[in-house]
Amino acid sequence: MMPLPDTLESAAGLDLHMHSTASDGALSPRALVALCHARGVTHMALTDHDTVAGLAEASVEAQRLGVRLLPATELSVQWQGMTLHVVALLPEGASTAMREALAAQARARIARGEEIARRLEQIGLDDALSRARAQADSERPLGRPDFARALVEAKLVPDMATAFKKHLGAGKRGDVKAHWPYLSTALGWIHESGGVAVLAHPLRYGLTRRKRGLLLDAFATAGGESAELISGFQNPDMTRDLARQLQERGLHGSLGSDFHFPGGHLAPGSMSPAPRGAPSPVWCHPALAAFAG
Ligand code: AMP
Ligand code: MN
Ligand code: MN
Ligand code: MN
Repeated sequence: MMPLPDTLESAAGLDLHMHSTASDGALSPRALVALCHARGVTHMALTDHDTVAGLAEASVEAQRLGVRLLPATELSVQWQGMTLHVVALLPEGASTAMREALAAQARARIARGEEIARRLEQIGLDDALSRARAQADSERPLGRPDFARALVEAKLVPDMATAFKKHLGAGKRGDVKAHWPYLSTALGWIHESGGVAVLAHPLRYGLTRRKRGLLLDAFATAGGESAELISGFQNPDMTRDLARQLQERGLHGSLGSDFHFPGGHLAPGSMSPAPRGAPSPVWCHPALAAFAG
């Protein structure tokens, strides 16, 4: 296998942000790895929300197909009253302490699901918890997409986008976020595991450029190493501006599709190109040398 290039703009066959049925993705870990392989993705990270439960299955398939798989998870955290996502790239896997923390994340997610259900029952989604469970079609902790699908199924909204816009998105009734750990706590788990912390999709928090700069300052100051320069498809002017914000703070750039399910506009390995002169790739961080080489 070719080593990865040392610039983001020449990267191909790489995707460091994807989901499987271990969280809110549609494909099993095995099927996701197979799809990556079929699409020419040679280096991948499986980043299920708040869990590493899909990694064992994914790694068997990755070995079989010769795909390089980086253990990872996408952590839900709180910072200044907002919910943020942090991709933990974990070349040595999750430490014992981090596994315990992930078990606590699962419990937080379960308690949060019960509260979301209570709140959605107030707007007419009877038996909200069992309806969301039916949508998930598994025993994993529920996420907002499961409730969004339940709202669509019950014909309370026409589609997922409306479910989030009206009931589950930031600041809406079903946006329950009280239980997530602080950003600094999550960074502690990642570093204690020998991993690298990547701020996920910094353009998707609805922040002004100034506030995004403050977030990146706080992230770097707390020891975060990287942020996603590219998340799926995004405006090239926004990308260039974000590249500058990362470079100013010495943050490495990462990239990923944030793929959840086939049939939409996203696919493993497909995303906007990085501009020239972008920040140093996250895989040039010394902790990821074995993955990149
Ligand atoms: P949760 O992890 O339970 O907080 O749910 C967040 C997940 O909901 C994200 O990872 C996305 O997969 C999904 N999501 C967030 N916003 C939207 C939206 N507007 N439309 C569809 N899915 C969304
Ligand atoms: Mn998701
Ligand atoms: Mn996310
Ligand atoms: Mn994601």
